[in-house]
Amino acid sequence: MSASFKHLFGIAQLSRQQIEHLVHLGESFIELSRRSVKKAPTLRGKTVINLFFENSTRTRTSFEIAGKRLSADVINISASTSATKKGESLLDTGETLAAMQPHVLVIRHSISGACEFLADFLPDTSIVNAGDGAHEHPTQVLTDLLTLHVQAGGVAGKTMTIVGDIAHSRVARSHLLAAQKLGYKVRLVAPKTLLPRGIEQFGCEVFHDFDAAIPGSDVLYMLRMQTERLTSNCCFPSIREYHEAYGLNAARLALAADDCRVMHPGPMNRGVEIASEVADSARSHILDQVEHGVAIRMAVLTALCGNSPESSPSPRSKRREKAESAMRAQGKLL
Ligand code: ASP
Repeated sequence: MSASFKHLFGIAQLSRQQIEHLVHLGESFIELSRRSVKKAPTLRGKTVINLFFENSTRTRTSFEIAGKRLSADVINISASTSATKKGESLLDTGETLAAMQPHVLVIRHSISGACEFLADFLPDTSIVNAGDGAHEHPTQVLTDLLTLHVQAGGVAGKTMTIVGDIAHSRVARSHLLAAQKLGYKVRLVAPKTLLPRGIEQFGCEVFHDFDAAIPGSDVLYMLRMQTERLTSNCCFPSIREYHEAYGLNAARLALAADDCRVMHPGPMNRGVEIASEVADSARSHILDQVEHGVAIRMAVLTALCGNSPESSPSPRSKRREKAESAMRAQGKLL
C-alpha cells in the first residue's frame, strides 16, 4: 500500500491507513540511520527545499538529514537570511523557489494555513507542513506515533495526557486529530487561560489539576510555553508557580504507573514544564523522539516523491490573480 498524497498539510487529511503506513515506513528507516554508511538511493535526482520562517533545531535538521540520507539534494533557507527580510511576500518567495523546480518544499510559518495557501499557486511542487502557527505539526505527531509504536507496541486504547500550553500548541491539535483516527484517548491539562474554548469537541477529557490526571495515563506529554505566540503575559502567574502546578518533577511522576512514558516535542524548558531529573530519566523518550523524527521525515519524503503531480497547472497569470484577490480580501500580504 502507498500513502498516496501530493501534499502533507496536516493529520486532518490522513486516513488511519495512511498514518499507519507512514509509521511502518518510518520504522523501516530507523535501521538505516544506525548503519555506519547512512545512505540509500531512494530520492536520487530529487530536490527538497526547507523554507523556515520560524526557528527550529529538530524539525529543520531532521528534514535535511532525512533528505540527504535518501540521496536527495537538500537546500535550507531561513527567513532571517532570505529576501523576506527585504519585504518579499510569502507568495513571491514560494513562486521564486518553485521556479527552480524542487520536488518538495518543506515550510514552517507562523501563520496557520500558510502551506495550503501556497499549494494553490505552486501546482508542480509537493508541500510539507513543518509547523504552521498554532494549527498543525503533522510530522511531529507521526514521530511520536512511531516512538510509541517502537517503545510501547502502539497507541490503540492508551491514554496520552498532554500538559501545558494547549491553546498555542500545533502539536496538541495534531494529536487530538490523530487520536480520533487511531483510537487513543487524550487528556488535556492546563490552566484555563491556556485552553481554547470548546476543545472538548475533540472528544478529550479536560483537567486543570495535573495530579488528578496522572493515574491511568500511559504517556505524559509535556509542552513548552509558546511565548512567541502569547499575546499577553497574563496566561500564568509566574514560572515558579507554573512549574509547581503544571511542571513534571520526580514526585509527580511517582503518581504515574511504572510503565508510564514521558515525552516532549522539544525544545524543552527545563525547570518550567519539566524537571531535569525527569527529562534525563529512564522514563523519558525525548531523545527517541528525536531519532525517530529523522526516520519519519524519510518516510514522508519517500511517500511524496513517489507520486508524480497529477494536476495540470493552470496558467500562472490566473493563479496570481486569484492569490492577489485573496490577499486583498484578507487586507494583508502573506
Ligand atoms: N517543536 C514543536 C513545534 O514546532 C514544539 C515547540 O516548539 O514547542 O511546534
